Amino acid sequence: MLNKKSVDDINVKGKKVLVRCDFNVPLQDGKITDENRLVAALPTIKKLIADGGKVILCSHLGKPKGEPKPELSLAPVAKRLSELLEQEVKFAADPEVVGPNAKAAVEAMQDGDVILLENTRYRAEETKNGEAFSKELASLCDVFVNDAFGTAHRAHCSNVGVTQYVDTAVVGYLMQKEIDFLGNAVNNPKRPFVAILGGAKVSSKISVINNLLDKVDTLIIGGGMAYTFSKAEGGKIGVSLCEDDYLQYALDMKKKAEEKGVKLLLPVDNVIGDAFSNDCNKDVVSTGEIPDGWEGMDIGPKTAELFCEAVKDAKTVVWNGPMGCFEMPNFAHGTEAVAKALAETDATTIIGGGDSAAAVNILGYGDKMTHISTGGGASLEFLEGKELPGVAAANDK
Ligand code: AMP
Repeated sequence: MLNKKSVDDINVKGKKVLVRCDFNVPLQDGKITDENRLVAALPTIKKLIADGGKVILCSHLGKPKGEPKPELSLAPVAKRLSELLEQEVKFAADPEVVGPNAKAAVEAMQDGDVILLENTRYRAEETKNGEAFSKELASLCDVFVNDAFGTAHRAHCSNVGVTQYVDTAVVGYLMQKEIDFLGNAVNNPKRPFVAILGGAKVSSKISVINNLLDKVDTLIIGGGMAYTFSKAEGGKIGVSLCEDDYLQYALDMKKKAEEKGVKLLLPVDNVIGDAFSNDCNKDVVSTGEIPDGWEGMDIGPKTAELFCEAVKDAKTVVWNGPMGCFEMPNFAHGTEAVAKALAETDATTIIGGGDSAAAVNILGYGDKMTHISTGGGASLEFLEGKELPGVAAANDK
């Protein structure tokens, strides 16, 4: 059980608080085109302001590869945050991130003030967890708060290195929610516990399948991944996605499921296409009977029914990866059906970041899910059962 100290467990009155946020927002011509990440960061920031902390925000933005790139400056974020918080967020425009502007701004701070540092990835040491930059960041603050789940699976200066040089390192509300749902609900689930995995490749989810087989009551596998399982059993898969190097692995996982008493559900029928495009000719065939030249693009209607039925009586459901090529409307039905089933079940529903999170939101079911993770890579590593450096670095309760 992960039990980390959070912003609710500390007193920040009069203290300098460095907060690692995820302000990695899409920008077009200097304008923020999706401000969800800024809005999501507000509860932690507001809490620290209300408690009288001196709030020093930091984040990375894009991949400047260790040098200042004006188009990846966080200046537009400071401007928008000022509007959202209805108070000035002073921007410390130092190309070296912790420079004269940042130091002077911190020195002049009153309780409840907010400043934002420049893009942490302007510094080459950031992604290498270098000591000098970690120390510089720590020198600005008394307390460190990590609220950036998207980078929690990486050990960088601004989320891990810095914690070695401060006495108090806690998590913010966003991180706390990810830990509660993805970390603890997966390891300590209400049963029946059903996991649904999809997406393109078996190889990218090997460790997830392996780890979840030790935990779940039912494992559902759909999407492009399922054809490797079908071929491994001697099925005809046409030109469907397949990873021939993982045929034996697929058989091993089927065996593991049997040994563990886990119900492993694979597609029984498939929507196939004669080309990889939305407007190709379509057909529905049973698993293992895909003709030459055709490829599996989505789970079929019988499979959708089977998968949705399995979700109905579940108490916990975790979903990562679409059931088919959901970007093409003609092959989105399987993914839609699963999203709808999750929206309608009484179970705790947890959506891994990345494509499944996007699909659920696009389909309008976002507010019906218990938790939608904000981190693609980080949520997969949680599901793999790994310790995330960004989480591990926070103080235990
Ligand atoms: P992943 O990043 O592994 O979760 O894969 C997501 C991608 O898998 C999406 O872009 C889907 O279009 C793709 N995908 C899902 N099912 C299939 C399929 N049957 N054939 C090809 N691509 C698929």
